Amino acid sequence: MDRIIFHIDVNSAFLSWSAVKRLREDPNAADLRLIPSAVGGDVQTRHGIITAKSIPAKKYGVTTGEPVVSALKKCPQLVLIPGDRATYREYSADFISILKKYTDKVEKVSIDEAFLDMTDSAHLFAEEIANGEAYPLCAARHIKDEIRDTLGFTVNVGISTNKILAKMASDFEKPDKIHTLYPDEIQTKLWPLPVGSLFGCGSRTAEKLTGMGIRTIGELAQTDMGLLRSILGNKSAEYLHNNANGISTSPVRTVREKAKSYSNETTTSEDISDANYESIGLPIVRKLADSVAKRLKADGVRAFTVYVIVKTSEFARHTRQTTLTVSTNDPRVIRETAEQLMYALLHGPEGLFSQGARMRLIGVGCSNIDREGYHQMDLFSWAETKKAEDQKREEKRKRELQIEEKKKKLDGMMEKVQSRYGEKSLRKGMHLPE
Ligand SMILES: [Mg+2]
Repeated sequence: MDRIIFHIDVNSAFLSWSAVKRLREDPNAADLRLIPSAVGGDVQTRHGIITAKSIPAKKYGVTTGEPVVSALKKCPQLVLIPGDRATYREYSADFISILKKYTDKVEKVSIDEAFLDMTDSAHLFAEEIANGEAYPLCAARHIKDEIRDTLGFTVNVGISTNKILAKMASDFEKPDKIHTLYPDEIQTKLWPLPVGSLFGCGSRTAEKLTGMGIRTIGELAQTDMGLLRSILGNKSAEYLHNNANGISTSPVRTVREKAKSYSNETTTSEDISDANYESIGLPIVRKLADSVAKRLKADGVRAFTVYVIVKTSEFARHTRQTTLTVSTNDPRVIRETAEQLMYALLHGPEGLFSQGARMRLIGVGCSNIDREGYHQMDLFSWAETKKAEDQKREEKRKRELQIEEKKKKLDGMMEKVQSRYGEKSLRKGMHLPE
């Protein structure tokens, strides 16, 4: 029997949630969803990037991920509001708990979207079915309306027999809509769409394909596999060809493995000392960090804490850890953090190497797992991290300028004294009052 899969996606989640919160606090406030508005950046300085925008803002060409400055050029009256993680988490949890009333098979994909396996849920809608409504359409309508009427924000529901088609369907016309995309509707509803709108087809791949004359999802679906493999490589070719043909057997994954930490370790083939750390130890640290990042990404989670472990040839175990301000699954961040931790653990006067230790085992791990907000939070965190980095850089520059100025002042004073009392009257290094 065919499965019945829903993909439910909150319409402009961050913006809607901020709008709902605002209206709860002040029922007379303007509804952000109905005016050109956007979440993101620093509202005061107007720096940073847009992380969500209203439909009226979209009409001005404002896009997610673009700098606030350029969005304001397109739409000077754009109302900017700051992100509000605590509220987003709260509303996301409310959203998921409604979904769980209708099936125990709910897979949360990100902070604002989930797959539901509704194959065995028809009995919950006996009343609607008795009134002549068709299942599963009546279930989709019921869930969509319940979310809107009780939580105050809208969702799109995509219905099909597998995850890829349901996901594509929920992305059709928005907001507050239900769409089906059954296998027998693929040719009429899916194939005319531009190839870049296919799930899994990034902008660079789309460019490559359109360059080859493959412009629509239908054209991709009918492209010879040999040719496609030569353009995209075997793995991508098969994945995208399947997606374009609506083929997917992936189950709705109910219970995510809730690992408390992710770590990889390896016993080294020879003892690592100060002499061969750079050539043997460091590449291992990097490789382990990359594999941990990959596992975090595969599970759609991020981590706040990075740690390293070493075991010496005397089997003593040592670890060192640090907690980041923004959770991450970025291999570059994890790699750099692990390298620094390892450096602190091994080198320096207190380091293991200066005590003559040699290492037998190296490990890298992440804990303090953050399961919220995969996709969108990525952008969000990126913006926050960037802001913090910009601030740091600015402060450093200011300090350097101050030092430069003090030096100049000092030199000026020295010159004055020297011209009056002779060159030998004053040497650098003497204490001078400010
Ligand atoms: Mg959404």
